Amino acid sequence: MKNNLTAIALAAAVLCALPSAQARDANANEEATKRHFASLVAPGKAPKLAELTMFFTMMPKGGDLHHHYSGAIYAEQYLEWVDKEGLCVNKTTYTIEKSKPAGACVSGQDVMNDNTLLANLLQRWSDKDFYNHGAVQSPPDRQFFDTFAYFNPVSSTNTADGLQRLKQRAIQENLSYIETIFEIAPIAKDEDFDKKALAGGVTEADFAALSAKLEKDQAFQGWIASYIDNVNKSGAGIDDEQFTLRYQPFALRFLSPSQVYSQIVSSFKLASSHPKIVGVNIVGQESVNVSMRDYALHMQMFKFLKSKYPSVKLALHAGELSLGMVPPEGLTFHIKDAIDVAGASRIGHGMDIAHESNPLAIMKKMRDARIPVEVNLSSNDFILGIKEQAHPVTLYRKYGVPYVLSTDDAGVSRNNLSGEYVLYAARYQPDYAEVKKLSYDSIRYSFLADPDKQRLLKALDGKFAKFEAEIAAAQTRAGR
Ligand SMILES: [Zn+2]
Repeated sequence: MKNNLTAIALAAAVLCALPSAQARDANANEEATKRHFASLVAPGKAPKLAELTMFFTMMPKGGDLHHHYSGAIYAEQYLEWVDKEGLCVNKTTYTIEKSKPAGACVSGQDVMNDNTLLANLLQRWSDKDFYNHGAVQSPPDRQFFDTFAYFNPVSSTNTADGLQRLKQRAIQENLSYIETIFEIAPIAKDEDFDKKALAGGVTEADFAALSAKLEKDQAFQGWIASYIDNVNKSGAGIDDEQFTLRYQPFALRFLSPSQVYSQIVSSFKLASSHPKIVGVNIVGQESVNVSMRDYALHMQMFKFLKSKYPSVKLALHAGELSLGMVPPEGLTFHIKDAIDVAGASRIGHGMDIAHESNPLAIMKKMRDARIPVEVNLSSNDFILGIKEQAHPVTLYRKYGVPYVLSTDDAGVSRNNLSGEYVLYAARYQPDYAEVKKLSYDSIRYSFLADPDKQRLLKALDGKFAKFEAEIAAAQTRAGR
């Protein structure tokens, strides 16, 4: 009996020491995928863009962590909702209107049926053709942010439909998770607070007083309840085996101080009261006057509320600026303050790092504390004109700061997440291990609850095994 047991134990030990046939195949598939990928971005040669596009469309991409819901919807979808809401599009201004004066205002379907009209509309409602046509060009940053005003009248309608469309698009490109910046956070205005803030005199006592006032504001509290109701209704039936969605409410940084404060208050409240609202954000053009003037104040607001709600996570747009856009002093502290003052867990864009006062110390902190940057290559190229070797992802990469690739506003940029990976690979020639890590990191650095995170990481293992097997087999067939 004893001998038998010893023999079984020995056999088990031998089996464990030998890799199983399955594991051997998996390793061989991964090696073949590595070799194939290296051939697509070989140094000194033009990147094979069509192959890269196919590769990244097929490659499992964990999550998109910097994703604005309204900017992700394509204009064609908004035109459908124009008709559904009984609205029309002004043929001269391309704005959405309520009434229909004969001939001047047409249906979304009419726009879709008129190729010239549609082309003209897309030049206003998105970045499409910006570099092909001179006629309607405003500066690119204005062009980008102005698109939102065009589709704003319908962007908060049909949200359940919108989320379903985004889910289908995600599945189509093998993306399993989106953390979307969804709908403006409930807001209230307080004239006295604004006056005091503009005079430079608000303190934490004023924050506390305004918080107490908002607590008793029925309309404000009702709006918070309806935000939750909207998340429940719009998101019903979204999460399943293939796809998971989480939400972040946002404050608009160019509004008045009390409006921004109230939005940050409601965002914290939302994030601490609903399991699918996983973080808070602040968005809007950072280079405009009010955003720049109040930046430090906004960080104080986050600091104050973070101390009240320590478990709420912050993903803050910070440093979405370039030299020349604002005076140089404005480029020196946004990322640092988002981390050191506000307590951000992730940084959106982080574009001005090279201009900040102590970039090496900030990057060391980001590396040690695992605070990633959400990198949005297309958006940064268009809005800030920063690309190739001028993009600070080159610094984050060199100095060990974690980062993830994300889309920002795929409907405005008319791109998708696979396209962002293509751009990254073509520009920076990573190896396969690096892009695979980027995919995993986009789940690791998500604000998902831990069990969900583990579930998605495990699913990613299976998806990569399948993907690598497919690539390896295709390369064998192609005689590589
Ligand atoms: Zn953004």
